[in-house]
Amino acid sequence: MTNRTRNNRTRSNRTRNTSNLYRLAFVCLTASLFIAGTSSILYSWGVWGHQHISHAAVFALPPEMRTFFYNHIDYITEESSVPDVRKYAMSDREEFARHFIDVEAFGDKPFETLPKTWKEAKAKYGSDTLQRKGILPWYLQEMQIKLTTAFKDRKKDAILFLASDMAHYIADAHMPLHTSLNHDGQLTDQRGIHAFWESRLPELFGSTYNFNVGQARYIEDITAESWRIIRESNATADTLLSVERTLKAKLTKEQIWQLDSNKNMKKNTFGQPMHTLEYAKGYHTALNGMVERQMRAAISVTASFWYTAWVNAGKPNITDLDSEATIKRSKPHLEEEIELWKQGKLFDFKSFNEF
Ligand SMILES: [Zn+2]
Repeated sequence: MTNRTRNNRTRSNRTRNTSNLYRLAFVCLTASLFIAGTSSILYSWGVWGHQHISHAAVFALPPEMRTFFYNHIDYITEESSVPDVRKYAMSDREEFARHFIDVEAFGDKPFETLPKTWKEAKAKYGSDTLQRKGILPWYLQEMQIKLTTAFKDRKKDAILFLASDMAHYIADAHMPLHTSLNHDGQLTDQRGIHAFWESRLPELFGSTYNFNVGQARYIEDITAESWRIIRESNATADTLLSVERTLKAKLTKEQIWQLDSNKNMKKNTFGQPMHTLEYAKGYHTALNGMVERQMRAAISVTASFWYTAWVNAGKPNITDLDSEATIKRSKPHLEEEIELWKQGKLFDFKSFNEF
């Protein structure tokens, strides 16, 4: 048995229970998508992306936070996809708007006219409009307030739950199409590009990415930071789409899509069309590191939001929220994973693959 296997086996019962619940929820999600005959609706980083972003963020924390977060890294890793499960398997209508903002739906100069705070946004547009067009940047601000309170109260379950949820929404904010009206290329005849970019490409090439993003930083102004993320992400959406259009124009259907014997496009579990491996390689190369860049930015910002909440809460001692025995048991594995992370790598855990 390797150290890594031991590490997995010694993690808490709670984590194992969470894993089982998580797997059950994902089975329900898959079933519900089949029942609904739904395709192209898993608009979020795939499970692979969310889990690797959250997992890597733990190592960017200072030691005073890292021990506690590492003790619960399995929970944080797996819980990071649960907001999507709430959307689909739990049919939580309130959940949908938290994952995106259709920036272009707010007029010609949205970044000049969009209210920066939730209070102002609600007063200007009303809840119904915002539910339709998305509330992601304002929701990040709300989550930050809740996490800060959880740190102040030293409430272990609340810290872990909110930090994991927050990691999900921050990751979504770094997926350029989560900020765009053209969220699946439906306005430019590029349907399927959303899942292709955020699930298939990381699943194929993510293991070569550098996950060492340096240390978390203190964010002076969370409101300004949440809008900076959305603005930069939205500015990238055009490139993401135009690079694919250019590439597609040069190739035949057979070079782009995996086809069955009747020349119909093959589909994955969620009804997404499957691109050929060669096409995926070509697109990934033509993007010139965009997926890795957005993933690294999401890791860094996640750790920085967590760190800022903890600093603003007065830097409470969270290490002693766990027992001495738990800390002692995790320590050698933490040291081993820090060494890996320094080289840009992560412990090779298994994620649910969509393609
Ligand atoms: Zn999402």
